[in-house]
Amino acid sequence: MTISTGISNTAIAQVHAAQRQQYVNTHPQSQQLALQTQAHWLFGVPLHWMNDWSTPFPLFMQSAQGLTLTDVDGNEYVDFCLGDTGAMFGHSPNAVAAALATQAQQGLSSMLPTADVAAVGNMLSERFGLPVWQAAMSATDANRFALRWARAITGRSKLLVFNGCYHGTVDDVFVDLIDGVPQQRDSLLGQVYALTEHTEVIEFNDLAALEAVLQTETIACLLAEPVMTNVGMVLPQPDYWQQAQALCQRYGTLLILDETHTISTGLGGYATQHGLQADMLVLGKPLGGGMPCAVYGMSADIAARAQQAKEQAPAGHSGIGTTLTANALAFAAMRANLEQVMTPAAYAHMLPLAEQLAEGLRSLFAQHGVHWCVTQVGARVEFQFAATPPQNGTEARAIMLHELEQTIHLYCLNHGVLITPFHNMLLLSPATTAADVARLLAVLDGCLQELLG
Ligand code: PMP
Repeated sequence: MTISTGISNTAIAQVHAAQRQQYVNTHPQSQQLALQTQAHWLFGVPLHWMNDWSTPFPLFMQSAQGLTLTDVDGNEYVDFCLGDTGAMFGHSPNAVAAALATQAQQGLSSMLPTADVAAVGNMLSERFGLPVWQAAMSATDANRFALRWARAITGRSKLLVFNGCYHGTVDDVFVDLIDGVPQQRDSLLGQVYALTEHTEVIEFNDLAALEAVLQTETIACLLAEPVMTNVGMVLPQPDYWQQAQALCQRYGTLLILDETHTISTGLGGYATQHGLQADMLVLGKPLGGGMPCAVYGMSADIAARAQQAKEQAPAGHSGIGTTLTANALAFAAMRANLEQVMTPAAYAHMLPLAEQLAEGLRSLFAQHGVHWCVTQVGARVEFQFAATPPQNGTEARAIMLHELEQTIHLYCLNHGVLITPFHNMLLLSPATTAADVARLLAVLDGCLQELLG
């Protein structure tokens, strides 16, 4: 897979330097706050990823509503990052904000279910096609718990992931294929036992590799995104999933689909839209409109086996759950979001806009003679620095160019448009308009003009 930028390193360095200076000039309040937070927060931020943005110092947010994010200097941004999917359906949707305000007066957390649990369970099973659900605090936790159930149910120790995957900070999944050899991800901190012992990793879109691993009949589950969205984007080949699902069934391996990002596909997510029947399904991030919460669903068969596994285990800690999980606020948020925000009408608005954006990007790149590909999964659009879309994690990694990405992101930010800091992902929300899409395309046009000199 060849990288194709058509842009010189000198041009990237020049534009980057100018944009860094512009950021410094226009963000004095953020700079002040950054100086203060440096004193008591590791790396000056409450979560070290907050330094992974393209900015010379963190951008401090004042407020965010709908598609508009305002920083502490009063600069406004049209948001296509949307909290990396947490705010996929707009910032602080009115219905969610109102439900939270009401619930906040009536108890935040009691370790007991509220009436909202019944309503949310009905909506989840109706919309996502799985009858039985459990809650978690984050998509990371939901994946972690799903893996634990899968191992308990099958009695198998190993799990299988795709090279280049991301499923949150779940230890087990940080295994890459480097030159065809499984290796623990180098960036992982403090890892003291070998993950490769219990995690197998193969390339996405490779059915032969999948069957070779599954036929050992040692794999508890395949944990996968239906479309890889965390290494740039990698689409499944036609019919890949129908066949992969059949292979999992043949060899007794559970299929866990992590739809945390592919919820962008359409109502009910990728599996519903493409007729896949996962054994378990994970949802997080936007499910509570930005309020931290997640859920995972399971088929009737898996639910029965999970119940049996729990009943057969001695009483005591299961390794599943956290004290504040399934709290009253989370359920109020999920209910309002599922009932009033993440609706068919919302998708009907988002999907054509995403088409418009994808087409707009293709013609923009053609006009500038840069051979960059554009992929789309419902309301999620990605551009990557190669003429044809990658087919697996290795190909996708090979076409990432950190310096160029950072320069484009910072240029956009300085021109009032936020895009996701990791790779080139653009999210459309019910609050996004055609004018916002046009604005993003105009800013990228300006950026390419500068980069191409
Ligand atoms: N699954 C996928 C596919 C993700 O992209 C992410 C986060 N980017 C997660 C799970 C974890 O989500 P969280 O960080 O909210 O736990």
